[in-house]
Amino acid sequence: MRKRLVAANWKMNGDKALVSELLGGFKAANLGQNSEVVIFAPAIFIPSVEDELTGSVIKWGGQNCSEMDHGAFTGEISLSMLKAFGCTHVLVGHSERRTLYSETNEIIAEKVKSALAQGVTPVLCVGETLEQRESGITETVVAEQINAVLDVVGIQGLAQCVVAYEPVWAIGTGKTATPDQAQEVHAYIRQLLASKDVAVSENIQILYGGSVNGVTASELFGMPDIDGGLVGGASLKQEEFITICKAAD
Ligand code: PEP
Repeated sequence: MRKRLVAANWKMNGDKALVSELLGGFKAANLGQNSEVVIFAPAIFIPSVEDELTGSVIKWGGQNCSEMDHGAFTGEISLSMLKAFGCTHVLVGHSERRTLYSETNEIIAEKVKSALAQGVTPVLCVGETLEQRESGITETVVAEQINAVLDVVGIQGLAQCVVAYEPVWAIGTGKTATPDQAQEVHAYIRQLLASKDVAVSENIQILYGGSVNGVTASELFGMPDIDGGLVGGASLKQEEFITICKAAD
């Protein structure tokens, strides 16, 4: 039985005061009792997140990582550094990283490999643009993104990841994919993984991301292959994120 997971991607938002305000509210609401909750705050706030969440069941992670262990990579943060501050998860391949920072499928696969080597769970984000969806190549795009990672870490490596299906056209746009649209791609991802290993495909958590909110969450999470959500904008609104997490519970 797969456990549901709801992850908050704060992106480059918030300030020191918001960290304790939001996390204080999430702890008071007892989030994470029946499903997992993971907070992805901006890297500079991770030590404060660790202070706030140590001792609670809520987990936290990095929004990005370097694929390198250490060295002359100005501005980068390694997996061992994230781990030293209690990160259990790391986002890899978010569409903003792919498009704004030119992260290729190959770089993303190396990041996944490094995260696995450190025992940090990668949340591998995949998804098509509107143009790709309208051209009918959603499955091809998603398969390419996943196969690039499989080529490097294999199916047993992928088994240690969480996959987040995030149609690019739904991220930050207020346009949530319909539950049926999302389910169709989730089922496809599970089928793709089943062709390598049925047990892995049945056990892996596949999250949906793209304008999830307090109204759409319960129907999305009710779909058979949707195991929770990766939530951007709504994760910065205390009551709304609590509603989303309760829908997963
Ligand atoms: C995201 O950043 O991964 C995301 C899904 O954002 P939003 O919920 O704002 O669409």
